[in-house]
Amino acid sequence: MVKSSVPTALPIQQIVGLNSGPKLIVLGAVHGNETCGTEAIRRLLQELEQGTLRIERGTLTMVPIANPLAYQLKRRHGDRNLNRSMRVTDVPQDFEDRIANVLCPLLQAHDALLDLHSFHTPGIPFALIGPCNNHGDLQPFSRAEAEEAMALRLGVNRFVEGWLETYAQGVADRQARGAAASLDYGVGTTETMRRYGGIAITLECGQHEDEKAPQLAYDAVRHTLAHLGMVTDTVRSPTKESEIIRLYQVVDRLHPDDRFSRNWRSFERTERGEVLAHRHDGAELTADKDGWIVFPNPNAQVDQEWFYLAEASQRLAR
Ligand SMILES: [Zn+2]
Repeated sequence: MVKSSVPTALPIQQIVGLNSGPKLIVLGAVHGNETCGTEAIRRLLQELEQGTLRIERGTLTMVPIANPLAYQLKRRHGDRNLNRSMRVTDVPQDFEDRIANVLCPLLQAHDALLDLHSFHTPGIPFALIGPCNNHGDLQPFSRAEAEEAMALRLGVNRFVEGWLETYAQGVADRQARGAAASLDYGVGTTETMRRYGGIAITLECGQHEDEKAPQLAYDAVRHTLAHLGMVTDTVRSPTKESEIIRLYQVVDRLHPDDRFSRNWRSFERTERGEVLAHRHDGAELTADKDGWIVFPNPNAQVDQEWFYLAEASQRLAR
């Protein structure tokens, strides 16, 4: 039997068009158990090799397995969550630090990122988009229109915004009550890409085992290539029926006996005043407005995010 060992390389596939144009990077398996992107990229590579898909202009870079250690272990993390802290470090402390040292400059060399993921509990696919244009300190951004235009052509109807500011507030709350929290926790692939001046979307293609997820991932890349003018395919018109959900609060678990009022699914609708969970001392946690409960995690560790609250957003309403 071959002894498994820690991967020592990151395979990257690149097709450079002979005509200049946009530089798109597509990532699969940033979380090792989310393999729809890996499958989609392998299919695209086959088509590129056979010549049934041709890059007419620009550069397409694909990383089929962005976290090879996690992929090998068939789980979300290798040593840690690659998508929560990405920066270049002189002295890498873990496997994901070494991957980040390769991925960060690679992202910086591109204009657009499509990061392909899947999720744990049943639900419909959705895209996570960045902030509106702003000059704030946390995530200044000036390319919201370009990012939205790409998002609206991915083949999903549900869009989620507000990730980093909500997460950052959660980290601040955690620090305020004296729990350990690092400051750049929360900065993943898309946040890094936007910091470098690019546009970036996380596409959650379906449940991990959903057999439609690889097809959705594949179609999303094809439509992005068309949208960016890198292939001669017909450009898809923007999604009309869109649902925009803004995350506005993250609630941490504070005690092992904190419990949900019931077995919530992600993106379940909640009404103002509805009891969502109980603290270990019996205190009720209720929704402060009509909206959704998002990413509930019954197995959350103490001082880690337990669930998010979200409300309807008017963004993208045209
Ligand atoms: Zn993921």
